[in-house]
Amino acid sequence: MRKYDVIIVGGGLAGLECGAILSKKGMSVCILEQSGRTGGFFQPFFRNGKKIDTSIHYVGSLDEGMFLNNVFRYLDVWRDLDLVRLNKDGFEKIHISGKCYSYAMGHENFAQSLSADFPHMKNEIELYTKNLKETGINSLRSTLLGGGISSDAMGMLSVSAFEEIEKTITDTRLQQVLTGHSLIYSGERSMTPFYLHAITSNSYLEGAYRFRGGADRLTDAMTSRIREGGGVVRTKVRCTSIITDNKIVKGVKLDNGEVVEGKYVISTCHPAETLSLLGTDSDVRKVYRNRINSLKNSPGLFCLYLVMKPGAFPYLNENHYIFGDESHANHSPAPLKNGILASFQPPVDDPGFAEVVTLVREMEWREVERWSDTIVEMRGEEYREFKERVSNEMISLADSHLPGLKAAILNSSSASPLTFRDYLGTPQGSAYGLMKSFSSPLSTIIPPKTKVQNLYLAGQSLNFHGVMGVTVTSLLTCSAILGTNVLTEEAGISL
Ligand SMILES: Cc1cc2nc3c(=O)[nH]c(=O)nc-3n(C[C@H](O)[C@H](O)[C@H](O)COP(=O)(O)OP(=O)(O)OC[C@H]3O[C@@H](n4cnc5c(N)ncnc54)[C@H](O)[C@@H]3O)c2cc1C
Repeated sequence: MRKYDVIIVGGGLAGLECGAILSKKGMSVCILEQSGRTGGFFQPFFRNGKKIDTSIHYVGSLDEGMFLNNVFRYLDVWRDLDLVRLNKDGFEKIHISGKCYSYAMGHENFAQSLSADFPHMKNEIELYTKNLKETGINSLRSTLLGGGISSDAMGMLSVSAFEEIEKTITDTRLQQVLTGHSLIYSGERSMTPFYLHAITSNSYLEGAYRFRGGADRLTDAMTSRIREGGGVVRTKVRCTSIITDNKIVKGVKLDNGEVVEGKYVISTCHPAETLSLLGTDSDVRKVYRNRINSLKNSPGLFCLYLVMKPGAFPYLNENHYIFGDESHANHSPAPLKNGILASFQPPVDDPGFAEVVTLVREMEWREVERWSDTIVEMRGEEYREFKERVSNEMISLADSHLPGLKAAILNSSSASPLTFRDYLGTPQGSAYGLMKSFSSPLSTIIPPKTKVQNLYLAGQSLNFHGVMGVTVTSLLTCSAILGTNVLTEEAGISL
């Protein structure tokens, strides 16, 4: 039986990045993915002949010389991408109480354009932007170079996002505007650390792009590079247990009974699922299991995918975050919670017109919990009615700020946290995995190395989520296995 250097459980972004890095370093890798294709959240589906991205709407730090641009070139996938840079003078539009505020790309541009809307806050906006940039870059640097949480970084990890913003910005409406995109990191007053807000927001100021032709072009390119390098990528194989012997990992067992042997195993599943794959002989202590199982997951998202009538609604090269209930907005502290994101996929057939628009809103598990015992396509009439009601509310809100959108819809389909749970195995359909907390950073940030010898973790629950967070974590996981800093020593990327 062939024994691999590394077995990777899960073929989403994390698994593919780890596979691509380690096979580049000459290790034999085998990726095991339960779905019919790789990509995880990057997987598309098709309706009315249109390819629809299930999850990825935009990615930051992609301008020349920026972090993700460098990493994707190092992984040799850049050449496969068709990226569309969002509007530099307004890549995010935040609609609150009938007024629309823009985020411009680039730090100076961003500060200047917001100062035009809030002239009395000009100095504060400049201070905030400087803080955003410094915290965004320094948090990234200390995570990547420190290989985890350094003592310097601890100060940054323990700062509340919303308190930090309120310290500099005294205007309530501006606080709401600056956190108007917090859906992208599940912003919550009682938990979200400032570094998470800063890394995410700063990365978009460093070049926010959409994928034309499907976000899966990125994960497909990684899959191809791994195979071209001799790596094995298998789909429709579910890992049912991680095999250990005397507290050392030996391989994994699959749902068909097959055993795959390897020196190292990287699990990119949710950490709670990884623990459930480990038997009692692995010696993982009960207290660690309890800690992981008690951590809070981010809420899920409800996505409404709209296929548009040809030539009926213009393609908008920016994201629209739209908040309803104006009286509520006037009195609520940031972040506002009653909003939706309207995101447009770059058109493939007719450049000026929208082909696919996705509306997204946060959805807590309790909203769908009563259907938790059901499976895909078999959830019953009440669930169908629930989805229809939510969809209609979202379309009305979008149409009230983007007039004509509703009339231009040809067809729609939707995904709730139940959908994400059943297709990808994320607990309670959580969109971004384990929440980070400024009040207990050490217990919510999970290191890649485990107590089981040669078992490593990767994926969105460890450091932070999204393409940026997952890529950072993949670099850390591979660095831990290789015993060298992949970013600086292998890829030669400086931060
Ligand atoms: C609706 C939505 C919108 C988003 N929008 C953005 C965005 O615009 N920009 C951005 O940067 N991020 C966005 N994100 C976040 C981003 O998609 C994720 O953080 C990232 O893709 C997670 O990658 P991952 O590899 O950690 O996890 P996953 O993609 O979940 O990959 C894990 C893989 O493991 C497989 N697996 C699980 N258990 C097993 C098992 N036992 N055996 C075999 N395989 C298994 C799963 O099938 C899956 O393919 C969005 C997320 C959602 C839900």
